[in-house]
Amino acid sequence: MRPAVFLDRDDTLIANRSLPASPGSTPGDLADPERVELLEGAHEACRLLKRSGYVLVIVSNQGIVARGGATLHDVHATNDRLCDLLSEPDEHSGRPRSLIDAVYFCPFHPEGSVPEFTREHPWRKPAPGMILAAAEHLELDLTRSWLIGDAPRDVQAGVAAGIDAERCLRIGEGFEGVLDAAVRVLAHTRPAQVSRARLVAAEEGALRHPRVRATVASSVRALAERTGVGLRDVFVDEDSIEMEVEGTPLLAIGMAAELRRSTDAWHLAKHGTRLWRAPGQERAT
Ligand SMILES: [Mg+2]
Repeated sequence: MRPAVFLDRDDTLIANRSLPASPGSTPGDLADPERVELLEGAHEACRLLKRSGYVLVIVSNQGIVARGGATLHDVHATNDRLCDLLSEPDEHSGRPRSLIDAVYFCPFHPEGSVPEFTREHPWRKPAPGMILAAAEHLELDLTRSWLIGDAPRDVQAGVAAGIDAERCLRIGEGFEGVLDAAVRVLAHTRPAQVSRARLVAAEEGALRHPRVRATVASSVRALAERTGVGLRDVFVDEDSIEMEVEGTPLLAIGMAAELRRSTDAWHLAKHGTRLWRAPGQERAT
């Protein structure tokens, strides 16, 4: 179960307040992808929250659909544009990837003109429906989650969903914008502990051959993958391997011990000798 930051859309991530009303819309409604503009600090806030391990979920009332000012398609196109603006290159592929994990919006409003969408709905903030649905779909831990919005109904929805009131932050009430609200979130987020462990080869230069180094490095990556350990980095030189993992020193030692066991077995079968010094030589920091 992962923690999330739920983000309101309008006047939290994008600027709406200055938009005039048009037929079917009220001032501030925005359903035109061409007019989406990020508020200052929005990109940075999302980037920092994402890197801190939060799932980012937008939850937005879009009563404009019930009022006939926009279609579902318009709202989707606007949200897609926002997600594109809130993206950055993927670490591995280099292709742009949105920082936003999911967008939920409520097209219903009790005073609409489009019959299909004219009613009260459990998703419409201040009701908690969107947050609860996201928590179920994305397996989120609401006790560790936060909400950032600009309206009282945003905060009310968060509290109604079971998020601690102190974790429901309102822009304009103590926070100037989404970035300083994000800083509050980060200040309360304990950094993931990072530990390192090192294995030293039994013989000097034992890892000189690129094939041996590649085998050892891919073994540690495969081990991290099957055990779910966050592997930050692997350093291999001619005589040793050092790995940096997200977790306690004991976890790092465990990773090193298992790597020693598996690669020693491989080296014994192939070359008749062990690759690493005897157990108990792992060093964790
Ligand atoms: Mg808003």
